[in-house]
Amino acid sequence: MKFNQLLVLLVGGAFFLAMMSLYRMLEMTQGVKLPHSETPAGPEDNDLSRLKQQIDKLERLLSDNNRSVSLAYFLTAHSVKYILSKQNILYKGDEWDEQPLELILVPHSHNDPGWLKTFENYYQDQTKHILNNMLIKLTEDSRRKMIWAEISYFSKWWNNIDEQKREMVKRLVKAGQLELVTGGWVMADEANSHYFALLDQLIEGHQWIQRHLGVKPSSGWAVDPFGHSPSMAYLLKGAGLSNMVIQRAHYAVKKHFAQQQTLEFLWRQNWGVDITCHMMPFYSYDVPHTCGPNPAVCCQFDFHRLKGGRASCPWRIAPQPITEQNIKERALLLLDQYRQKSRLFRSPVLFVPLGDDFRFVESSEWDAQFGNYQALFDYFDQHPELHVKARFGTLSDYFGALHRRLNAAGTTLPTLRGDFFTYADRDDHYWSGYFTSRPFYKRLDRTLEATLRATEILFSLTLAEMRRFHGDDRLVADFPTSKHFQRLTAGRRNLALFQHHDAVTGTARDPVVVDYGTRLFRSILNLHQVLQSSAHWLLLSDKSQYHHDQSKPFMSLIVFNPTEQLRSSVVSVVVDSPGARVVDAETGRPMTTQISAVWAEPSRASTEHFQLDFVVELPPLSLVVYHVTKASVDSAHRAQYTFHRRGNPPAVQSEHFQVSSPEGPEADAPLSLSNKHVQIWSSPETGLLQVRPFKIKVQFLWYGTRTQTEKSGAYLFLPGDKGAQPYSSLDPPLVRVSRGPVFSDITSCFQHFSHTVRLLHLDGHAGRSLEISNTVDIRSEVNRELVMRLVSDVANSNRFYTDLNGFQMQQRRTLSKLPLQANFYPMSSAAFLQDAASRVSLLSAQSQAVASLRPGELEVVLDRRLQQDDNRGLGQGVTDNKLTASLYHLLLEDRRGGAQEVGGASVEHLSLLAHLISLSLSHPPMTMVTSSDSQVPKLHRFLPLRSSLPCDVHLLNLRTLEDSQVTPGNSMALLLHRKGFDCSSTPDVELQCTWSVHEEVEDNTHVIN
Ligand SMILES: [Zn+2]
Repeated sequence: MKFNQLLVLLVGGAFFLAMMSLYRMLEMTQGVKLPHSETPAGPEDNDLSRLKQQIDKLERLLSDNNRSVSLAYFLTAHSVKYILSKQNILYKGDEWDEQPLELILVPHSHNDPGWLKTFENYYQDQTKHILNNMLIKLTEDSRRKMIWAEISYFSKWWNNIDEQKREMVKRLVKAGQLELVTGGWVMADEANSHYFALLDQLIEGHQWIQRHLGVKPSSGWAVDPFGHSPSMAYLLKGAGLSNMVIQRAHYAVKKHFAQQQTLEFLWRQNWGVDITCHMMPFYSYDVPHTCGPNPAVCCQFDFHRLKGGRASCPWRIAPQPITEQNIKERALLLLDQYRQKSRLFRSPVLFVPLGDDFRFVESSEWDAQFGNYQALFDYFDQHPELHVKARFGTLSDYFGALHRRLNAAGTTLPTLRGDFFTYADRDDHYWSGYFTSRPFYKRLDRTLEATLRATEILFSLTLAEMRRFHGDDRLVADFPTSKHFQRLTAGRRNLALFQHHDAVTGTARDPVVVDYGTRLFRSILNLHQVLQSSAHWLLLSDKSQYHHDQSKPFMSLIVFNPTEQLRSSVVSVVVDSPGARVVDAETGRPMTTQISAVWAEPSRASTEHFQLDFVVELPPLSLVVYHVTKASVDSAHRAQYTFHRRGNPPAVQSEHFQVSSPEGPEADAPLSLSNKHVQIWSSPETGLLQVRPFKIKVQFLWYGTRTQTEKSGAYLFLPGDKGAQPYSSLDPPLVRVSRGPVFSDITSCFQHFSHTVRLLHLDGHAGRSLEISNTVDIRSEVNRELVMRLVSDVANSNRFYTDLNGFQMQQRRTLSKLPLQANFYPMSSAAFLQDAASRVSLLSAQSQAVASLRPGELEVVLDRRLQQDDNRGLGQGVTDNKLTASLYHLLLEDRRGGAQEVGGASVEHLSLLAHLISLSLSHPPMTMVTSSDSQVPKLHRFLPLRSSLPCDVHLLNLRTLEDSQVTPGNSMALLLHRKGFDCSSTPDVELQCTWSVHEEVEDNTHVIN
């Protein structure tokens, strides 16, 4: 903790209290201006350094506040290798005599909301022109059609067009010429995104479409996310969609599916919910890879690449404009590709996309594509002997025709379960790098997510309480309802934007990453204002005294429990005295406290600042007020420290704490900490964890990259032949052990990282797991990746489990026949290993790559620094590394209470205990500092729930819906998620909640309007 970064608030005259809260600190730190505009301007060059400074400041604050934050392609054309095209797909030619080939050509334009340019710059340079031209060109000819996916862009464009154009849009939508597909705010990444954010961006987009166009999307379109998750399929189905298209699946999977004619299937959840899914068969969604198996031929039918234009065909055969002279030859050449492609599917309806990234910008491109294709379609019409009917269409047109044909034939599609990770597009190029790339931002994403959810719930409860207070549905006039709702909406949209498949993935250019980071950061600050004033209203004993004054922020210490469970937690604040007292403001009951040193350097404690931790028991969704006052030096237990460093005992500066540095034989004795539930050990040499009786050890290792030309980058993980090498450092680490009544921990300080294992001395389940936190800095390294590996004696063979989007668990099998990088999977919130006797679960507060390369092992990639581009269009390496924090809970469970057969079941769940710990990890208590001004009226704790929800039911969100005036309406969406859980381990601590047994609670997420 650096002193100049501390927020110091005057409490009781001479006593300083600082919340260990990132948000408050950011607000009060000099130099960080609270933004007034919710939408940051695009980072023009002259703004870039300012934005970078903000992000750098944020980086320091985040690393200093690990605990409170976490608790409180384009392929270059010559490299393209397509799948199935090495040999022609055979057909006889009479296959369509009975049922003609029904071809539906679907024009599309893939608009990334940020990648090489920022969202704003893409909009100005390309997107708005595409949409403007769309309006003109579709209106010109009713046979023309188009699909559009990204509502972030569409809504921005809508705001900029006049009423007459809006009416034109509505007519096109009504006529079925323009179809909004998926309807999400973005085309979301499906590996790193948490399901809260996936669903929220979908709701934001669907609500927008409903409000402005009065329609509901029916088909999904995900052509660019780097691998696909069944969680997304489930959310789409739940949102009312019946069909979906996906593209980036492993080339060997595509080949297999093509051979089996299973590229169209019913994608089934493990509990049996289906959605029709079409997987594109070839390498890409561009024209060369969508008309048929031969890109050299298909490229000739991308009329944007006509000679003299900006684009050309890398296969060196240019497209020709369709003329009377060449039309027969051209039509037959194209039809041959269509027919070959059609052989990969079971029905005679053929879906062919027509588009690429940021296509249809210029008016001339519209004319070239629509004019030439219409001529070809007309030719097919005039030649019935070809047995082909072709037209422009949308996804609904295609799937409608497909289902009609399937019904007529009395057939259904095959079903499929599982996911499409880890994606490879060619050779051994597995896209497992992006599971960790830019981990700093992946963590910031989850911080905003936790803040947004807490704010949504508290804001909705506030509006409901206000309506009840007046008894006539009126809101409190003085409460800044619409301003707060704008902040909330901007927070939703910035989180939504970051779920884009080049944002949370860490695969955008540096300035674009800074733009995203700034949006996340501003939203966190703005949402905190909403949180604070909502808390103000809810806590007032006498509501008539409410008065909102922005210049005098409502200021005691308020803690919000954003979870639906009664919980024991540790709250941290920084104070300027080694003596402090905390009481419950309402009952006057003193809390159990611990004073710890704030370490300015690994062995130098601050003499001015101290960390005060106290134990709270928070009812579900409660707001509770505490008073923190300066007290005699003996008023709080002080932590005791021991320091170890092999061969070079450190000189420790710490005048307020009892410190020892053992010497002689004592120095070699193993370090040990324990609470009621767990005992951990560690060697004084490394400080790295060993747990008994589970025999778990922690190791750190480096991966390098290949010596060949193709090396790891933002997308790809291409490790060197040697695999991981043990982390070693010239200087032995400094190991610092702290012991106290609230928590005890062991911190090891190495050159590139510090690693802390903490035991909380809490009753109940909160004390049952080990908290592991790392702060990593690899900015001095070249082409290296740092991993943390857990080594256990769990006999899991080659099977392990990782979560998909925090929504469900998926079994993985480590296969030695695959390259090492193929065995890495995304982990958004959890991974576990198990055998018949035990289970080891790693619960995570951020998304990272995870693998279990050998039995008993689980490793996570903490950060990666890669000097070069990996040829997927980004054009740069990832070298903007930051001091990056990561946080986990490690849970060891005995399965002998009711162990099931191991290895046979492919559907596994976390235990109830693991679910509860994961919930606490992802949704830390939110802390707010308030003024101790004697004029502040009496505050009364706010307890909206009489009891905890059943512990398998998660309150995903309580979301105030928007009315037509862009203000909060009278309705809210209550989203509940009933979780599956594993029963084989009987918790040795009694859970304070029940689980639901009612059949009426269905196993899914409900959206209640
Ligand atoms: Zn994209």
